[in-house]
Parts: sequence; structure tokens; C-alpha cells
Amino acid sequence: MTQTQTGVAPSPLLSFAEARRVVEEYAATLASTAPELLSLLDGVGLALAEELRADRDFPPFPRSTRDGYAVRAADVAGPRARLRCVAEIKAGASPAESAVTLDAGETAEIMTGAPVPAGADAVVMVEYTARHGDVVTVERAVRAGENVVAAASEARAGAVVVARGTRITHATVAVAAAVGRAEVAAHRRPRVAILATGDELVDINLPPGPSEIRNSNSYSLAAQVYAAGGEPMILPVAADRADELALLIGKGLTADLLLISGGVSMGKYDLVEPVLASLGARFLFTGVRIQPGKPVVFGDAALRGKPTPFFGLPGNPVSTMVTFQLFVVPVLDALAGARPQPLPFARAALKAPVVAKTGLTRFLPSRLGGTQEQPEVELVHWQGSGDLMALSQANCYIVVPPDREQLTAGEAVTVLLF
Ligand code: AMP
Ligand code: MG
Repeated sequence: MTQTQTGVAPSPLLSFAEARRVVEEYAATLASTAPELLSLLDGVGLALAEELRADRDFPPFPRSTRDGYAVRAADVAGPRARLRCVAEIKAGASPAESAVTLDAGETAEIMTGAPVPAGADAVVMVEYTARHGDVVTVERAVRAGENVVAAASEARAGAVVVARGTRITHATVAVAAAVGRAEVAAHRRPRVAILATGDELVDINLPPGPSEIRNSNSYSLAAQVYAAGGEPMILPVAADRADELALLIGKGLTADLLLISGGVSMGKYDLVEPVLASLGARFLFTGVRIQPGKPVVFGDAALRGKPTPFFGLPGNPVSTMVTFQLFVVPVLDALAGARPQPLPFARAALKAPVVAKTGLTRFLPSRLGGTQEQPEVELVHWQGSGDLMALSQANCYIVVPPDREQLTAGEAVTVLLF
């Protein structure tokens, strides 16, 4: 096997699907961070380290979903049935107030969220009734069960309502609140070390020299890490020197996960792989047939004790962001105790034709728009994988399979949402 000029034996490039599988299989072997008890809102974005269970039946009583009249469906089967109103039941009515039993020919005025009284089996919406004194005329028949949610039909007391490993979202928060959980056990954010490499980089609070650029990758990665439930730790920028890289990579390997940006291409000063190799790293892949992001590297290294996974992400800002989403997220999810998530693919009609070179799976920065009936997607104008300005105009990538040279306008294409 030939050696690259950096001294690491090149391994064959994997397809996108193969590389993703490697990452997912590796992720499945990882232990997650320790759980901690957090007040509910502090857990948003983290993974639940416990099951949430219903503390009582949901709903605890047969609940009206409408404002109207509780009836016996059989009473209102005929046209313009007339019933006698014997009670009013509002949401939050005390047991005494709602302890009504409807007999044949009777009805009770009822509000959304109120308990449907014994004897009744349906609710007629107020819009389909007319009332004169105690007499209610029902203008439309209802099926038994209509506009009533049966007791315990959403969840029985004790049932698991949110599984362990679920990311806490607004929907999870709603359930936790409903079952009375002001505190929940969630996995702490995995610590993710972020190491940008490159002699040309200066930090964002310094003025760049004429041939220097600001380090944007450490910040975009930190934002992605945080959004994915990790705790970013930005390390100082490493110059393209083996000794400095080794020192900072060593530091980064003390975190739960290390992300390195830059220095993984074929250039003379792309030293990340040889330095990792000199630290005893194991490489699971050193390139994937995708664009942007082809030189992406994945592996693990143990300085002492258990190995720490690392990614070498190509330094071009769009490549860095794409490869994070494609490959880093499953590892971060596993460390964070979250169940594996599929990539958010969708389909949309192409607004204008796309021409691509074959051989690589392409992720082209694009904008999804259109309407509910016809979602449409079009490329944003971009200058290639360095064009972070273009990416900020995009909200998804059009995914072009490696065997497609030409996508035609109107064709349904796969998009990867941000
Ligand atoms: P590399 O992967 O090191 O060959 O870098 C590829 C391109 O990405 C070069 O044009 C770099 O200047 C640029 N680049 C590398 N690292 C960063 C960074 N941290 N922030 C912004 N641009 C970067
Ligand atoms: Mg570089």
C-alpha cells in the first residue's frame, strides 16, 4: 500500500451509507454520561435518563372536547330532539358539581375540558343546539362517544408515557408537567473538545492580518454541539506544527469527544492524521465519497484508560458543518444517552435543474420553500465548500446520489434538513 506524504497509509474511501453505518455501529457501543436531577426546563435539549410515567389515568375522567350539551346519543337520534337541561358542568367543576346522572330525555350544559356526567355518552356542540329556558333542541344527531375522550384512553396510571433516552423537547416538557414532574433525571451534556487547526487562523476578537482569516469553525461547531446536546469546550487554535498539534490533541482527548477542524486533506501541512497516528489512534475511516467533506476522518484514541472518539473534519467551513451533521451527531447522541435519530430527510420538487459530477454523494446548500401542496427546493448560489456566506442563506441540502449527473426541474429530490 502506498503512503501519503503525511505517512498514514490511506484506507479506501467509504460510501456515505457505509461511513454512516460505521459511525452508528460505533455509537451503539458507547456508554452515556451520568444522569443528574434537573429542574424540568434545565433539561430541555438533554436526553431523559428515566422513563416518565403517568401518575394517574389520562384523562382522569371522560372529558368533553367541546362546549355544548352532554347527551345520551340514543336520545338525539331523531330530528330536532328536545331535552331538558338539568345541570351546568364547567371545566374544573368540583366532584359535587359534576355528580350528575342524566336520565333519558335529560341533558347538561358542558364546557370543554369538563367531566362528562354519568348517563351521558356524547356531547353535542353548542353550535348545533338552540335553548329556550330549560329546553334544549338538538339540531344534529351525534354518535355515542362523539366529542368525548374516554377516561384513561390517553394513558393508564403507571404507564410509560415518555421513554428513556428521549430528547427533552417542548412536547416532552408538556408531558412531564402533566404528570407532575418538576424535576427530571437527564444525562449531563457530554463535553466536546473543539480544536481548530491552521497557521492562517486568528481568533474572532483579533484583527486578521492580510493573509489570515478568522476562526469561524470553532464557533459553528460549538453552536452545533450545543444544539445537539453537548457542552462545547473550545481549545486554542493549533498551528500546523506536529508538536503543538500533539499537545492540543492530547488535551482534547480528555473530553468525551474531540472534534478537530482542518488539517486532514492531502496538503503538506495537513498533519492531523500523522499526529493522531503517533498518539496511537485507531482509524475507522479516513475519507468518504461525499462532497463537501470527503477527507473526513473518524476514529478513537486512548491516552490513558478508555478510548475517546475523535473526528477530523475538513476545514472548509461548509464541509465542517455538513460532516458534523452527517457523522458527529450519532456519536454525540450516544454519549448524551439519546436514542439514535435518523437523519432528517424529506422530499421536495426541484425548482431548477441541477448538474453534478458523478462518483460522490453531494450535499448542496439549498433553500426549501414552496407551499404545503408543493414544497419546492432550489440551490443557493455558492462558491464551493468554503462559502459560509452562502450556507447562511440555506436551510437544507439537496442530496444528489453519486450516480446522478443531471437532476431535472420538477423532479422530486431528497433534501437533508438542517
Ligand atoms: P484545511 O482543511 O485545513 O485544508 O482547510 C481548508 C480550508 O478551510 C482553508 O481555506 C482554510 O483556511 C479553511 N479553514 C480551515 N480551518 C478553518 C476555521 N477554523 N475557520 C474558518 N476557515 C477555516
Ligand atoms: Mg489547514
